[in-house]
Amino acid sequence: MKDFNITDQGEVAGGIFTHVSFKNHEQVVFCNDQETGLKAIIGIHNTTLGPALGGTRMWNYSNEAEALNDVLRLSRGMTFKAAISGLNLGGGKAVIIADSRKDKTDAMMQKFGEFVNSLSGRYITAEDVGITTHDMEMVKMKTNHVSGIPESMGGSGDPSPVTAYGVYMGMKAAAKYKYGNDNLAGRKVLVQGIGHVGETLVHHLCQEGAQVIINDIHQDRIDEMVTKYGVKAHIGSDIFNADFDIYAPCALGATVNADSIARMNCDIIAGAANNQLAEEWSDEILLAKKGILYAPDFVINAGGLINVYSEIAKYDRSESLRRTEEIYNTTLDIFRHAEIEGITNHAAAVKIAQARIDNAK
Ligand code: NAD
Repeated sequence: MKDFNITDQGEVAGGIFTHVSFKNHEQVVFCNDQETGLKAIIGIHNTTLGPALGGTRMWNYSNEAEALNDVLRLSRGMTFKAAISGLNLGGGKAVIIADSRKDKTDAMMQKFGEFVNSLSGRYITAEDVGITTHDMEMVKMKTNHVSGIPESMGGSGDPSPVTAYGVYMGMKAAAKYKYGNDNLAGRKVLVQGIGHVGETLVHHLCQEGAQVIINDIHQDRIDEMVTKYGVKAHIGSDIFNADFDIYAPCALGATVNADSIARMNCDIIAGAANNQLAEEWSDEILLAKKGILYAPDFVINAGGLINVYSEIAKYDRSESLRRTEEIYNTTLDIFRHAEIEGITNHAAAVKIAQARIDNAK
């Protein structure tokens, strides 16, 4: 992943408009509140198809430049995710620079809601890493431009289970393409990041009889999951040297990079994390050389977005799940399209998504 260059004074060297991750973003908003300690950045990438909808991530970034880089990459990914999923939404995302286990307060989330409100609906927020439906309740106290609120408040609830279902569908499609059948029973699947999405994915995989290996940075979480699902935990520092058929990145992005690819010996990468490829145009070429099939992240992790969109388009949970199941066919179509055109799966997915945006202009 490319970060900004930081000077000795801790300032960003060079400009934002010329940064490698700045790709025609429409608007970037910096939110600062001394009282609550809120430091957030909202990225609105493209609103051609509709308002920019995307979750808020709370992460303890090591510096502000890293947070800015993340929000630029994530918001662009949301543009393609909405477009390929047939939703009338644009792409946006927000990051809050804080440790969700230590720093988060209701007052901070409400303040964030005020900033979201100031954008008058150009950006609609939802959950992402480090954020819960309770946090969205706090945001909702200050703005109506929020989705993924609890069902008790008339919302669609936590989108993560639907995201996990879509990832499971995408993984099955990848297995179908790679192995000739989509049965995951007996396949060794490494799930990295056992959070909201990772846990439900583990549940689906265990139900189908896959051999699941888990990994997380929090030992308490690993212990909980091992007890609950009877899965194995990866022991040791180098997870990519482990023995697995399918890698499901469900933590943060950029885990698929030149270094990890060199150590990986699997058949398929299919997971929930956004921006899995550190270098989106070249890493998949390295994967292809090793015979590893990559299921584009923004295609297979769209279930949560499809679910929160139900609050705007007014459809129910069963329709969300039906649309999410379609990820299976969409993923297979992308693999075939890429094969015919001789391009990577990521490039094929971006091309189809971009065509939908261009047609709408
Ligand atoms: P979460 O915060 O609930 O879980 C993330 C988990 O990853 C945590 O348990 C954390 O400890 C773990 N983790 C972080 N860094 C790690 C590392 N280096 N190695 C191993 N584990 C690590 O988040 P989530 O909602 O489950 O989302 C997971 C990923 O899926 C994120 O990249 C998110 O952007 C993406 N995603 C989520 C949704 C959704 O509906 N929640 C939708 C689309 C995409």
